[in-house]
Amino acid sequence: AKEAGRARMTLYDPAMDTDRAQRNALELDLRMAIESGDLTLAYQPLVDAATHEMNGVEALVRWNRPGHGPVSPEVFIPIAETSGLIESLGLFVLRKACETAKQWPELKISVNVSPGQFRNPAFTDYVRYVLKQTEIEASRVTLEITEGYMIQNPQRTRQSIERLKSLGVKVALDDFGSGFSSIGYLRQFGFDRIKIDRSLVTDITTDSRQREMLQATVALARALDIPVTAEGIETEEQAIALRLFGCDCLQGYFFGKPMVADQINDLLQERREA
Ligand code: C2E
Ligand code: CA
Ligand code: CA
Ligand code: CA
Repeated sequence: AKEAGRARMTLYDPAMDTDRAQRNALELDLRMAIESGDLTLAYQPLVDAATHEMNGVEALVRWNRPGHGPVSPEVFIPIAETSGLIESLGLFVLRKACETAKQWPELKISVNVSPGQFRNPAFTDYVRYVLKQTEIEASRVTLEITEGYMIQNPQRTRQSIERLKSLGVKVALDDFGSGFSSIGYLRQFGFDRIKIDRSLVTDITTDSRQREMLQATVALARALDIPVTAEGIETEEQAIALRLFGCDCLQGYFFGKPMVADQINDLLQERREA
């Protein structure tokens, strides 16, 4: 059946033309959005697992596509990757996030880095450049990297992480446990932090096998002395369990959804007045 499917792909299929046309249109709009600065950032609180106090935010890119409405980064980031737009998109996100976080001295700022950026040998240079330009303290910045690329290029990954760390920024392994995790590499890569994927968190209060999986994953990171953030926390029960299992930092709708910078300002203002 697989062979037949492949053979069919080579025949003319009008639906494929439509797909391609739609993708091209999306790519064109995305290019314009990047050039005209129409992308925005949302910020989601990161909280201390013990006190639930916000001590950082993760920057998440947002695109409101004209005539279409919001498009998920899970849709347009992969397109940016394959169309050569990821570099300018990534530069925009990093610069904007650092600029904005400057006004929040009490917070750390996490920024997602896609494999396409990370793979670029000039990436460290542009991180250095943005740090200098925005004058943010490097130690407040965490770059979140997903594991996909590293497994294929362990040697280069290690070098890239070393170079980034020499700038003073922190490097976190994002979405840990979501795919093919190579535990063996974890320590040698020198990650400052691991972020456990939401898929591992969702059922921990209802499914004992899920809970054990999660516990084992956190225990492993802790055995390597790597602090752990858990993402996707939606209930208080999850928050309590994750703290108990050893996560020191939590993130999820239970604490706060991604929000505009002004709302983070308001939260900080309230706290200063309290
Ligand atoms: P991620 O880095 O794992 O980010 C967390 C995602 O989970 C965000 O989705 C966030 O809104 C969502 N989330 C947070 N808490 C909860 C929760 O309690 N429940 C549920 N159901 N979801 C929660 P978002 O913003 O749609 O981003 C999706 C992915 O797109 C991100 O996953 C990240 O991989 C990528 N992404 C987002 N912004 C950027 C960016 O600026 N650059 C790059 N390269 N990738 C980005
Ligand atoms: Ca992330
Ligand atoms: Ca994640
Ligand atoms: Ca994710």
